[in-house]
Amino acid sequence: MTQRDVKKLIYDFPLVKDLVDLKEVVWFNPNITTADQGLFYVGLTLEDVIDAQERLTRFAPYLVKAFPETAVTKGIIESEVVDIPHMKKALEARYQTPITGQLRLKKDSHLPISGSIKARGGIYEVLTHAEKLAIKAGLLTKEDNYEILFSDKFRDFFSQYSIAVGSTGNLGMSIGIISAKLGFSVSVHMSADARQWKKDKLRSHGVNVVEYEQDYSIAVEQGRKEAQKNPHCFFIDDENSKTLFLGYGVAGLRLKQQFKEKGIRVDSEHPLFVSLPCGVGGGPGGVAFGLKLAFGDAVHCLFAEPTHSPCMLLGVHTQLHDGISVQEIGIDNMTAADGLAVGRASGFVGRAMERLIDGYYTISDQELYGLLSLLYKEENIQLEPSALAGMMGAVHISRGQEYLQRLSLDSHKMQNATHLVWATGGGMVPSDEMQKYLSQGNL
Ligand SMILES: *Cc1c(COP(=O)(O)O)cnc(C)c1O
Repeated sequence: MTQRDVKKLIYDFPLVKDLVDLKEVVWFNPNITTADQGLFYVGLTLEDVIDAQERLTRFAPYLVKAFPETAVTKGIIESEVVDIPHMKKALEARYQTPITGQLRLKKDSHLPISGSIKARGGIYEVLTHAEKLAIKAGLLTKEDNYEILFSDKFRDFFSQYSIAVGSTGNLGMSIGIISAKLGFSVSVHMSADARQWKKDKLRSHGVNVVEYEQDYSIAVEQGRKEAQKNPHCFFIDDENSKTLFLGYGVAGLRLKQQFKEKGIRVDSEHPLFVSLPCGVGGGPGGVAFGLKLAFGDAVHCLFAEPTHSPCMLLGVHTQLHDGISVQEIGIDNMTAADGLAVGRASGFVGRAMERLIDGYYTISDQELYGLLSLLYKEENIQLEPSALAGMMGAVHISRGQEYLQRLSLDSHKMQNATHLVWATGGGMVPSDEMQKYLSQGNL
């Protein structure tokens, strides 16, 4: 993109100027549709998500054996929803904005096995691949108890095959750990943002970690190239994978059940607002897809990105999707939110989900650190910086008068609202790293 092209883009889309200036911006998309209309364009259905859910149920006995920490949930990788009323008060004071409704936190940060939202999609795609190989080889049927996969026989079988992935850290952790456990030979191509402790942890699991000095796009590209050379190597494509997307989508159906058990109502009189940190888009996109299938028009999703990596906002707002990167408009893609350090969004997710995502906003690194410290102080919950991006959602919703009016979300409905912050990572951050994060928050 030439200087002239950037000028033209800013002329057509004035909001891009604020992105270039690294301002915190909020954009409610005026072109959203009803859930029914929007879901039609995704190209995947409720049946696909149910199929994913059933596959995860088949693997549950294996996961209990291979990862005993999953025994408490019978091999189902799921996280808690908790109320965070003290944080709500603190947010209202910090941003001088009253928030109506309840503020709750979805703790994917504390998912077992890999401590982030990637324990949904990443693990699901590896299990899908393993099942396919084993069934094709005549070693497994869908009626078997999948416990049998936890054996030398299956580890030997899977060791003929390899898996590769590019990641900023957490996807590599999920895919590396589950692949190595099954017996695959696995390579994780890590971008410069990836934290040292994540690489160390993976190596301790026998994963081949390849390090790059460039960002996520390069790490993915290299992983793709390596895989192409080897017909026994399966490449997990974070930028385009529908399997990853479906693994994340299961969260929506499960949340509906979880809310039912807790007596939390969601319907046209009880709106649900969900704020999701967004990197390449697969995680938040897949979860939002599942949420729309589960709750229809009663759920409203917002995507949150760092001011230095607003790839999805840029792609959807300009309609260029994966045809533009933040670097092309002069943004450096350097952020403390390593899980969100992505310069070019998934073209698949942006196009599939744009009608179903109500809005997008950016948040500065300093604000992420401030909220990280605040959440620890108010609720004694520790997250990694990326996972705080969703914390501003309730504030932006409350300030979004034009948006609330457009969707007929009156004050009566808002009294009944649930604001759900999707906390996406942090449960496995070593304590010395966490101390560094906390000290950055200046509280
Ligand atoms: C990967 C990640 C996200 C976002 O998921 P994408 O699929 O990249 O959009 C959010 N938070 C954390 C902590 C992550 O690791």
